[in-house]
Amino acid sequence: MTTLFISDLHLDAGRPEIAEQFLEFLKVEAESADALYILGDLFESWVGDDDPNAHYAQVKAAIRKLTDLGIPVYFMHGNRDFMIGDDFAADTGVKLLPEYYVLDIHGTQVLLTHGDALCTDDLEYQAMRTMTRNPEWQMMMMQKPLAERQAFAAQARAASIAHGKTIDDDISDVNADAVDASFREHDVSLMLHGHTHRPAVHRLLVDGKDAKRIVLGDWYTQGSVVRWEDDGPILSAIER
Ligand code: MN
Repeated sequence: MTTLFISDLHLDAGRPEIAEQFLEFLKVEAESADALYILGDLFESWVGDDDPNAHYAQVKAAIRKLTDLGIPVYFMHGNRDFMIGDDFAADTGVKLLPEYYVLDIHGTQVLLTHGDALCTDDLEYQAMRTMTRNPEWQMMMMQKPLAERQAFAAQARAASIAHGKTIDDDISDVNADAVDASFREHDVSLMLHGHTHRPAVHRLLVDGKDAKRIVLGDWYTQGSVVRWEDDGPILSAIER
């Protein structure tokens, strides 16, 4: 049996081919899997569970179908869909995970996280992150009309793209000390995350011990998945 991990699909009505591939993936792979873990940025943006967005409704229905079949689906917030809340969880049947979660899988402890919290060199992003993850800020946002929240999200996205163009690749990637600290704090030697859109398996030493960091890729031009079977995790692309 297989446990599946994905992230960074950035589903959006403007990129229907990604949703098509995701729905196919649910049918072909996830319906016969042990469990599915979505490690954030499933959606390009999320302004509240009350958003009637038809594209997102279709995706939600597909996830509901999977959980109705008895396949456990876990969701962790990304930096685009951090406003996903309890209503989404109730509608889809997914279980929401905290931003760091240690999973015991076949006796191996693996640390799951979206990955943006590790990008500590990007001070501007981290300041934005601190603000938008504050529950009081989120409550204040949810009191605004949907149209206002959508305008804010569009502006934040444009600012994020503009900011991304001004910083070097090593600034937008994870910080090595933050990675080491996460391995230590959670007492694991394996970490799995997305966010940077740089799929890879990194081997490193933490306090003299072997550690491995697996990075999931985005779904812009192909899918990206970690399949965990008896022999451990394998990172693969899914062609389309
Ligand atoms: Mn992200």
